[in-house]
Amino acid sequence: MFLNREKLFRGTGVSQGIGSAPALKYEQTKISVPTHPSSDTDSEITAFTEACERVKDANRKLYDEALKKAGKSEADIFEAHITLLEDEDSLIDPIKSLIASGLNAANAAANQFDEIIAMMEAVEDEYMRQRAADFRDLKAQVLRSILGLAEVDISRLDKDVILIARDLAPSDTIRMDMNHIRGIVCEEGGKTSHTAILAKAMGLPAVVGCAGIVASAADGELMLIDGETGTVICSPSETKAKEYGEKAVKLKAEREALGVYLNKKTVTSDGHVVAISANIASPEECRTSVENGCEGVGLFRSEFLYMDRNTLPGEDEQFEAYKKALEYAAGRPVTIRTLDAGGDKGLSMLTLPHEDNPFLGYRAIRICLDQPEIFKTQLRALYRASVYGKLRIMFPMISSVEELRKAKRIVNEVKEELAAKEIAFAKDVEVGMMVEIPSVAVMADIFAKEVDFFSIGTNDLVQYTTAVDRGNDRIAHLYSHYHPAAVRLIAGTIKAAHDNGIHCCMCGEAAGDIGFIPALIGLGLDDFSMSAPGILRARKLISGLSYSECRKGALELLGAATTDEVRETLKGPQFC
Ligand code: PEP
Ligand code: MG
Repeated sequence: MFLNREKLFRGTGVSQGIGSAPALKYEQTKISVPTHPSSDTDSEITAFTEACERVKDANRKLYDEALKKAGKSEADIFEAHITLLEDEDSLIDPIKSLIASGLNAANAAANQFDEIIAMMEAVEDEYMRQRAADFRDLKAQVLRSILGLAEVDISRLDKDVILIARDLAPSDTIRMDMNHIRGIVCEEGGKTSHTAILAKAMGLPAVVGCAGIVASAADGELMLIDGETGTVICSPSETKAKEYGEKAVKLKAEREALGVYLNKKTVTSDGHVVAISANIASPEECRTSVENGCEGVGLFRSEFLYMDRNTLPGEDEQFEAYKKALEYAAGRPVTIRTLDAGGDKGLSMLTLPHEDNPFLGYRAIRICLDQPEIFKTQLRALYRASVYGKLRIMFPMISSVEELRKAKRIVNEVKEELAAKEIAFAKDVEVGMMVEIPSVAVMADIFAKEVDFFSIGTNDLVQYTTAVDRGNDRIAHLYSHYHPAAVRLIAGTIKAAHDNGIHCCMCGEAAGDIGFIPALIGLGLDDFSMSAPGILRARKLISGLSYSECRKGALELLGAATTDEVRETLKGPQFC
C-alpha cells in the first residue's frame, strides 16, 4: 500500500529560492543542571576529570583548524580555553572539593564556574569581562560533556541539509556551513529579523515563522522549501518534488536572463538616475555584491565582525577587513556602519546586563558613546582604511542631536590623533547616519544640516513607529512598511535631505521590496541598498518605470489612511 506522508506547512518566505534536502534539526540544547546529591565521590570526580579531557581535546582540534583557516590570533582563544581548564587553584581543586562535599559533578562544576564568572563580571576591567565570556563558554562545554549532551555543529557538515530550528541567532547564521546548507526553516522570526536578512544576502532559501515545524519534521526526513511563498513540505510526494524541481529550473533561467542588467546604470524610462547598492555583513560579500551588479555598498553591518568570538576585534584586524571591502568595491562608495550591537545582535564578549527591553536599551551608538575606546578603535581602523577607496561612515540608532554631535566630536578627535601621528587618511570621508528612530525622522530637517547623508533603516523605523517587534511572528501581520505613518516618515526624510542638499539612501528591507520600489522612486529616493541577489531584478523594474508618473502616484500615497489603501494605490497605473 502506498503511504502518503507528505505534510504541508506555511511560514513567511524571506529569501527566494527552492531548497531540497534531508532535515537537520538544530536546537541549542538548554542545559539543565541536575541537583541530586553525589552517590559516589570517586566516580563523580572521574566523570568530571574525563569531561575536562574531552573538552581539552576538542579545543586542541579547534586550535589546529583555526590556525589553518584564520590565523594565530583566532586560534589563541582555544589555547586559552585549554589553559583555563588546567587551572588547579581556581577551578579544578574547588570543583573536586565541592564534589567531595556531596554535590554531583555537573552541579559542582556549574557552581564553581558561576562563582568565577560573577567575580570577573564585577570587575570594571574590559579584559576581565572578556575572560568572563570565556568561562561562560567553557562552562557550557564542560557541562555538556559531563551530561553527555550533543550539540550539532552547523559550521561543519558532511552532507546537504535543510536546517530546521526554533530560531537562529545571527551568529549561528554567519557560521553555517554554506557548502551543505540548502535552506533554513525557523519556527520564529519575521521578515526583517537579522537571520532572515542574512539568509537573503547569502542567497539561501529561507522560511521563518513556520509554526509547528520543529515538532513535526524528523531528522533525515526529506524537505522541500520555497523561500518566496513560504511553503515547507516534509516528505514531498513525487508529484510535488517534480513541480518544485521545475520551479527551481525556471527561477534559475529568470536569474540568468537578468544578466543583461549587470553592467548598466539604474535609470527610469524617462531618464531619472538612481543607484542600487548592496547590504553586506563581511568584506567577501562586497566582492560577490559587485559580481551581482551593485553600484556601491549602502550598508556594511560591521557588527558581524564582532560576532561568534570571545574578544573584540582589534584595530589592525578591523583595518584589514575594511581595506579589503574598499578594495573589492574598486572605487564604488562603501558605507560602513559603526557597531550596531544589542537587540537581537548580542555579542558574547560584551557582558551586557540583562534588560527587559533590549531593543530599547543599551545598544548600538549608546554603547559606543559610553565606551569610547571600543568606538575609537573602530574609527581609527576605518580612517586608516579610507585611503583604499571611497569610504562613508554611518552611525546607527541615533535618537537625538546631542548623540550625533557627541559621535562627530569623537570622530574629530580620532582624525586629530591620526594627523598628529602622521597616519594617512582620506580627507573627504562622508559621515552620515541611519534614520531608523521616529524622533530623527520627525526632526530630519534639523539632522540633515549636521551630516553628509541619510540612510533610512525601515526595519527599525517601522518597529519603533508602530510599536511592533520586527522579529515577533505572532504579530508579523501588523508589521509593514506600507503603514501610512511609515510612508509619511520616509517621504519627510527624503524631502528634508534634498532641501538641505544631501543624498538619501535606504538600507532597510523596504528598499528591496519590488512592490514598494515604485513608491520610493516617486518619493525621490536616491540610493536603494538591498541584499545582492535582488539587485538585477530591481534594476529591471526601475528601467520600466516612469519617474514623473511615480511622482504623481506618490502624492496620492501620502493621502492614504490605511496600509491597505497604500497597497491599493501602489497597484494604480502610475506605478506600473
Ligand atoms: C534597519 O533598521 O532598517 C537597518 C538597516 O538596520 P538593521 O536591520 O541592522 O537593524
Ligand atoms: Mg536598524
